[in-house]
Amino acid sequence: MLTATGVVAGYGEHTVLRSVDLTVTPGRITGLQGPSGSGKSTLARVVALLHPRTAGTVTVDGRSVTGSGYLAPAELRRRIGMVFQSPRAATDPRWTLRQVIAEPLGAARRSATRQRVAELAEQFQLTDDLLDRYPHQVSDGQLQRACLARAVALRPAYLVCDEATAMLDPSTTATIAQLVRGLADAGTGVLAVSHDRALLTAWADHVLDLHDLHADARTSWES
Ligand code: ATP
Ligand code: MG
Repeated sequence: MLTATGVVAGYGEHTVLRSVDLTVTPGRITGLQGPSGSGKSTLARVVALLHPRTAGTVTVDGRSVTGSGYLAPAELRRRIGMVFQSPRAATDPRWTLRQVIAEPLGAARRSATRQRVAELAEQFQLTDDLLDRYPHQVSDGQLQRACLARAVALRPAYLVCDEATAMLDPSTTATIAQLVRGLADAGTGVLAVSHDRALLTAWADHVLDLHDLHADARTSWES
């Protein structure tokens, strides 16, 4: 499991997460919703070990990440992939999709890398023709599929999707949702963040509201 316990995090003086608990379970899609600005992306980055905590614990399969989490051991970071809202902001315009996908795998010319890229291309429905194009030569949905392939290239146990379909049309959204469902069915624990309740209801195994994950909300609810 990927867990956050008592997580406090924010930006300088601005505390966004005030003691938040969250669990992401292998083989399931956990939906996280909440209004704009409520801190969903912040929590997504904290559990992906990409944003520091000021308090609280994050554990990855029982191993707790000490310190702020910023300097989490690379081997723990590798256990968590992440996909973002804008695939264009998340890719280098000078790299072909093949290079984008190969990036976490190391030298693109190595045969092991070539083989893994070919597997990922098949899994995420990227033809050879698409793999040789640059980001400006493909659609947002095609580029997001490449970002998804890059995120899982090292077979992470967990995948965090932060509004990964927010820029896509309904049919492309359905394709991405289905591909992520396939990863979950194969055992990946997924955290799917969206402000779109209808999407999460259809996509996730269960949907959590960020507000309810705060310790102060739980106390007022229980009392
Ligand atoms: P959205 O649905 O719009 O994506 P969100 O729930 O993901 O919103 P966050 O992006 O986590 O919300 O932002 C939570 C709060 O932290 C907001 O008040 C936001 O303005 C603030 N914030 C986010 N990023 C930064 C930053 N880099 N520096 C300072 N404040 C930030
Ligand atoms: Mg966000």
